[in-house]
Amino acid sequence: MDHFLYRDGALFAEEVPVADIAAAVGTPFYLYSTATLVRHFRLFDEALAWGPHLVCYAMKAASNQAILKTLAAEGAGMDVVSGGEYARAKAAGVPGERIVFSGVGKTREEIRLALEGGIRQFNVESEPEMAAISEVAHSLGAVAPITVRVNPDVDAKTHAKIATGKSENKFGIPIARAREVYAEAARLPGLKVIGIDVHIGSQLTDLAPFELAYRKVADLTGVLRADGHEITRLDLGGGLGIPYTRSNEAPPLPGDYGALIQRTVGHLGCEVEIEPGRLIVGNAGILVSRVIYVKNGEGRDFLILDGAMNDLIRPAMYDAHHEIVPVTEPEVAVELRPFDIVGPVCESGDTFARGRLMPPLAAGDLVVFRSAGAYGAVMASEYNTRPLVPEVMVKGDHFAVIRSRPTFDDIINRDTIPEWL
Ligand SMILES: *Cc1c(COP(=O)(O)O)cnc(C)c1O
Repeated sequence: MDHFLYRDGALFAEEVPVADIAAAVGTPFYLYSTATLVRHFRLFDEALAWGPHLVCYAMKAASNQAILKTLAAEGAGMDVVSGGEYARAKAAGVPGERIVFSGVGKTREEIRLALEGGIRQFNVESEPEMAAISEVAHSLGAVAPITVRVNPDVDAKTHAKIATGKSENKFGIPIARAREVYAEAARLPGLKVIGIDVHIGSQLTDLAPFELAYRKVADLTGVLRADGHEITRLDLGGGLGIPYTRSNEAPPLPGDYGALIQRTVGHLGCEVEIEPGRLIVGNAGILVSRVIYVKNGEGRDFLILDGAMNDLIRPAMYDAHHEIVPVTEPEVAVELRPFDIVGPVCESGDTFARGRLMPPLAAGDLVVFRSAGAYGAVMASEYNTRPLVPEVMVKGDHFAVIRSRPTFDDIINRDTIPEWL
């Protein structure tokens, strides 16, 4: 459920007409609903209310300071995957003890930054990385709390580019080698083993792969405890999918996911962490764009928008489907016609949809891409020197620009010309 609904023929974001924001900000821009963000976070928090837990928002999905602050005020922790994300979380006021550090290639500088600023745990992805964390911690006179990310060799049944839990993926340590790796962790001076981590992929629309993975983690908890390790925390990753179309079957609800977690690992007496990203912010954000031209081609017609693949890369990168709807609600009986919906970037890959049935639209009309909040703005670029797409947040009857659109001068002045040129 989200808070982008038609009212009297016009699309609203909470209490504000989307067209009013477009008139004030210009297009294209991302628009987030505070109420939807908060609602989704609370669904997860309530789903784990049966035991000690922390919901760590995977901020790579959308990392604007205003989004982080909104979630932090609800009690969210953060899952970060780079020094930059760690700095963003701290800048938003999230204390170190609520930040977990994931990612396959943490550098020594990033490890130091987190140890000095405070960290809940590092999720270790390889033995060389484990050695590096131990070394840096030891040199600082610190002890780094760690889990080891195990790769359970489970097929998440999602798009290949976002599946992470099969043995051929770069993530984690093969679960069969976990005992060896935990024994090594116990020997290293700068580490304190506290738990186990797993994350099998993104946009999962079925609970079965989670169940397989979490049962393996539960078994491993018993084995590692018998080996003498203190396993007090289980980080079960993110990955719960969202509906990208109104018609297809709805993915499982956070409540059912929480019940599955209780069923599979609830008896172990561990604190549970989860790292949802997409489900919290995906349907809490839309991309607002304007039709520049309606172009009638040979055998197909094109809607050319002012938003492009540099603003929203998911269709080009993951063959993702986004619902695209007009800001002015179409009449119920209106005749739909197929359009290829494209941006102005000079690549054929800059195509959002082919043969999409759309109501009549004219140059100047506004459209929105639904479900664009996750992996949208954060993946935007300035390809074709198109200014980085702005972000706007709505709360009730007011809105604010939370990242402004750079001017051409802002963009050009980031370059420097060598003296000798
Ligand atoms: C990307 C990622 C997540 C979030 O995945 P979603 O599908 O957005 O919920 C969580 N944990 C880790 C380690 C990730 O890499």
